[in-house]
Amino acid sequence: MEISNYLQIKKKLPLNVNLLAVSKGFGIQEIKTISNEGQNDFGESRFQEAIEKKILLKDFKNIKWHFIGRVQSNKIRKIVQNFEYIHSVDSYEKLTKISNVAFEENKNPKIMLQVKLSNDPSKGGFNPKVLIEKWDQIKQFKSIKIKGLMTINPKGLSSNQNIKLFKKCRQLSDSLKLKDCSMGMSGDWEEAVKAGSTWLRVGSLIFGNRSYS
Ligand SMILES: *Cc1c(COP(=O)(O)O)cnc(C)c1O
Repeated sequence: MEISNYLQIKKKLPLNVNLLAVSKGFGIQEIKTISNEGQNDFGESRFQEAIEKKILLKDFKNIKWHFIGRVQSNKIRKIVQNFEYIHSVDSYEKLTKISNVAFEENKNPKIMLQVKLSNDPSKGGFNPKVLIEKWDQIKQFKSIKIKGLMTINPKGLSSNQNIKLFKKCRQLSDSLKLKDCSMGMSGDWEEAVKAGSTWLRVGSLIFGNRSYS
């Protein structure tokens, strides 16, 4: 891992843009290294892997854990117990369950709703129309704090296509009066910043290549 990559990204970011360091596939040594540079937010997409690291890093009190992987219904309780942020809530049913479980667990997770803005069959998320239709109900949910929307662009888009798609997410967030947009990864983070991202989720550009995607 190259600490200089991390420092360069940090230097280029506007003040209102947060950097989530996606540490999936990497070990606690790498996390400690950039934690010591002041990085507090770490993203993981596999529950079991995340928990093992969280236990080993329990003395790093500044670390905030973000879940960014597919939310499986049968893992919701454990996710709610262990993560401050969930970026990848992709359906009304799961959101309902998260709210109920958060109430029972006396938690108040910060939530990003994943939206599906392209036809990429490998990516889930709320259909924007459904989200707007259900918004009045969603706003009433207890024990969660909906901060914004999240999206993942398909691979292989041009820079302009990326910006266009990210702007759709930004506009939808604005129309719902949500501040945050979790968008932009190693390959498209600069476009995401231009389009109004407030949370970049960057892994390989900071930590190097992973053995899985
Ligand atoms: C892995 C992952 C990232 C980071 O991807 P990189 O290309 O390594 O920056 C961001 N968001 C999600 C949802 C991911 O699963």
